Amino acid sequence: MEIGLKPEIKTYSGGLGVLAGDTVKAAADHDLDFTAVTLLYRNGYFRQRIEGKEQVEEPQNWPYEEILEDTGEKVSIKIRGRTVDVKIWRHKVKGEKGDAEVLFLDTGLESNTEEDRELTSQLYMGGQEKRLCQEAVLGIAGVKALWETDKETDYYHMNEGHSALLVTEASGKKVFTTHTPVPAGHDTFPQDLVEKVLPQEKIDDLGLEGKLNMTELALENSTYNNAVSDRHAEVTREMFPGYEFDAVTNGIHTDTWVSEPFKKLFDQEINRWCLDPARLTKVAGFSDRKLWEAKKKSKKKLSELLKQNTGQGLNPETFTVGFARRSTSYKRPTLIFRDVDRLDSLAEDYGGLQLVFAGKAHPDDVEGKDLIKRVLEYAGMLENVEVYFVEDYGMGEASRMVSGVDLWLNNPERGKEASGTSGMKAALNGAPQLSTPDGWWLEGHVEGVTGWDIGEDYVEGEDEELIDSRSIYEKMDRILSIYHNDRKAWIKIMKNCITLNASHFNTDRMLKEYLARAYK
Ligand SMILES: *Cc1c(COP(=O)(O)O)cnc(C)c1O
Repeated sequence: MEIGLKPEIKTYSGGLGVLAGDTVKAAADHDLDFTAVTLLYRNGYFRQRIEGKEQVEEPQNWPYEEILEDTGEKVSIKIRGRTVDVKIWRHKVKGEKGDAEVLFLDTGLESNTEEDRELTSQLYMGGQEKRLCQEAVLGIAGVKALWETDKETDYYHMNEGHSALLVTEASGKKVFTTHTPVPAGHDTFPQDLVEKVLPQEKIDDLGLEGKLNMTELALENSTYNNAVSDRHAEVTREMFPGYEFDAVTNGIHTDTWVSEPFKKLFDQEINRWCLDPARLTKVAGFSDRKLWEAKKKSKKKLSELLKQNTGQGLNPETFTVGFARRSTSYKRPTLIFRDVDRLDSLAEDYGGLQLVFAGKAHPDDVEGKDLIKRVLEYAGMLENVEVYFVEDYGMGEASRMVSGVDLWLNNPERGKEASGTSGMKAALNGAPQLSTPDGWWLEGHVEGVTGWDIGEDYVEGEDEELIDSRSIYEKMDRILSIYHNDRKAWIKIMKNCITLNASHFNTDRMLKEYLARAYK
């Protein structure tokens, strides 16, 4: 449903899309025969501006005609009793050893009704009917688009349930990856809506019993299912009993997410690390001074972005924490402010603290928008903490943030984060994570070595917020003390992030696991 390839291709909202893009890049690196299919979204997702303390949403037009290649090909499908024409755009992703393609499906054609043209205008907007129509375009027209562009395949990988209608069109083997443990992330459509949208022969194939659950449709038709971390697999097995789930932990595309200064450093001393990021273990022997310089340069780049965005840059000597995620309640963006006085005095003890926030709230998520406002309100209550909010969080902002900060903070409620990948990006750029034990962190965390846990002794039924916020202050005290009093130990931790985390939590390793276990 979304793909994040680069900042100017506005067809993504967050982690799901960025992971898809990173996966395509890894396939291109190894010259695999791999094509991805997504929708065009002429108006993108939305551009976020902060006015006063409120999120304002603006359309996100982007020059897709200049960036994408017109294949000249078209397919058509039946939706809501009408024929809908679907134009196919293409983008070639160049990798280390080859390339891979992404097809973008576009219904914005003269031959379609106004309503049908809107199907590929914007990501994740509109009601259930529009969503089902979009998923029909993605799944059904998607398969036809592959045939039309001579990309016949025996293998389909359904990335989330959104694409599951492809099972009504394609024979051949299917595998399925689920990406969210949050029930709202699994689309379910009532039978009367399905009957309105899809043609009769498709409905016969589906064998509906009152509703269409996209995740179950995918599960029923795939030969291999997986979740995206070990913990997420456990949660998913409870959500969908009767199905088997393997775990393939997500990764990031190393070359995409490494900042320029770190990249230069790796290039100098490690042969072909882009193609084989496992070689990043060699960073263990790097000079402390060079690593520190790379971080300083990356921090300066972030400071420039902040200066542009908020009018104020960073103090390079001050410890800087990053927090960037979709603003929604389970991610708890205001948790660090629970005891404002304690946070302020902690900062005072160590000569100040800088917190850099970013993240969009879905326009319909009233609570999510309110959380942004509250972050900005807390900012005004602190004397020794400088709080920044970067508008319009996207891949470009993410890149600057994960590399420029000293610490990456991640504090979702337990069990809700399928994997999380921004912490992997931070690790690659020598920023350790402070995170609740959830998602990939249960696998990547070694206390005091690659980062720190939040609230590790929490017992189910206790006040999770209280325990986690206290834990944040205690750990921050320890972390700040290392940073300011033992620089050598700090740089050792930075190195560990790269040698122990970045060498493993990448899409190179991830894709090889899919090849060995899913695409057999
Ligand atoms: C990496 C990335 C994400 C995903 O980060 P999480 O840790 O999974 O929240 C979301 N949005 C953007 C723009 C990203 O680059």
